[in-house]
Amino acid sequence: MKTDPYWWEAAPRPQIATADLPQKADVVIIGSGYTGLIAALKLTQAGRHVLVLDSGLIGSGASSRNSGFVGRTLKYSFGDLVNGKGLPHAIATYQEMQVAFRAVADTVSEYSIDCGFRVHGRLVLAETPAQFDDVKREYELRQTHLGSPFEILDKQALPREIGSPRYIGGVVLPDLASIHPGLYHQGLVKAALGLGIALHPLTRATKIVRQDEGFVVATERGQIAAREVILATNGYTDGLVPWLRRRLIPFDAWQVATEPLPAGLIDQLLPKDRTYIDSYMNIDAIRRSPDGTRILYCGKTGERSDQQTMGKRLLGELRAVFPDLKDVALSHSWTGRCAATFDLLPHLGQHEGMHYAVGYCFAGLPMGSHFGRLLAQRILAPGSVKSVFADQPFPTVPLYQGNNWFVPWMMRFYDWKEGKKHAA
Ligand SMILES: Cc1cc2nc3c(=O)[nH]c(=O)nc-3n(C[C@H](O)[C@H](O)[C@H](O)COP(=O)(O)OP(=O)(O)OC[C@H]3O[C@@H](n4cnc5c(N)ncnc54)[C@H](O)[C@@H]3O)c2cc1C
Repeated sequence: MKTDPYWWEAAPRPQIATADLPQKADVVIIGSGYTGLIAALKLTQAGRHVLVLDSGLIGSGASSRNSGFVGRTLKYSFGDLVNGKGLPHAIATYQEMQVAFRAVADTVSEYSIDCGFRVHGRLVLAETPAQFDDVKREYELRQTHLGSPFEILDKQALPREIGSPRYIGGVVLPDLASIHPGLYHQGLVKAALGLGIALHPLTRATKIVRQDEGFVVATERGQIAAREVILATNGYTDGLVPWLRRRLIPFDAWQVATEPLPAGLIDQLLPKDRTYIDSYMNIDAIRRSPDGTRILYCGKTGERSDQQTMGKRLLGELRAVFPDLKDVALSHSWTGRCAATFDLLPHLGQHEGMHYAVGYCFAGLPMGSHFGRLLAQRILAPGSVKSVFADQPFPTVPLYQGNNWFVPWMMRFYDWKEGKKHAA
């Protein structure tokens, strides 16, 4: 089993030589995932001199490791938001999620990125009657207030969508999409290099101090003066800005790919070729590989282990969903880091003059693409950005310094509360 992401086969991490750092730049961006690169592209197109730093290889964070689901859902359902914050706020929030969804499509088309962006629908699966009632209620509410289309499938109708005995019903959301996340990121790198943006791999930012009208960013390879700094480090946020680390809960997400399946089996298991999630807080996410030969599965989020052990456990889970996979092996098992927040909402704002966009709670493909654009806009035209996520109170808890020891326990608590059973 390979432990590099399956996506890196088609999109190997770019080999960019480490170059000398300039003495100054207009904007230093820390983090070379979707958020950092999209901000860099937009700022450069507006004439700013931008520098992107990453402590690892360019894009070696979650942006080249994720499942490639392009959705518009937060950890808070639309119904939760209506109940907690009222209908107008819920509508504004989910309308902005739709803008975030479109940010991916727009980025793909603006930079001509060949990453298999495809609107082929998502199936949200229910395992219990209570879950089925909840998903039907949620999507009826979204259709009423947001106009989002959906179709309800009961147990009899389900086999035309998925060859698994586990689920009792579901809803199809026909207008959601998927991409090859590695190729999406690779396209952003290509666009950035095409515009002459300096990308600096293996260059950890170690300290930021205010100086004159801007900042000095110290790195392992020298220092740079900048008028603006962007923190786009999400799940990989280190101690560079302790204030930010105290507000983020990093967690590991685990993903596997099967070997190519025997002809006909994938059509039997995933006949409609959608993306698939279940209805638990600790979600299972399933899809075909973009070439239609393998099944990719993401689950056991938040657990701590190694890729080989987790690969075996995820294969056990996958076989519980699809007993027909009993003789199939895995080719890849990998992991990546996401970030949750204490209010389960993404955040965009400024701290001591530094811009940040983080805390995507598993929706970083659309939200990173959207916030990357908003970060640039906030620098180019301060005060012009309207976002329900911007400049909101960003909570932490007393004594928390960023040590996420409690995440596996928290996920087990959600499993217990919601009755999620694990096969392996
Ligand atoms: C297995 C998995 C499945 C997922 N599935 C989905 C999905 O289907 N749909 C979806 O919407 N989201 C998904 N996500 C989440 C999504 O991938 C992330 O939210 C998104 O990629 C975050 O992008 P980013 O650019 O903000 O951060 P990242 O891509 O994580 O990049 C952050 C970068 O910051 C760098 N960095 C950190 N500290 C420093 C420093 N001091 N100096 C220099 N560099 C630094 C890191 O090296 C890293 O490269 C998934 C994530 C994982 C791991």
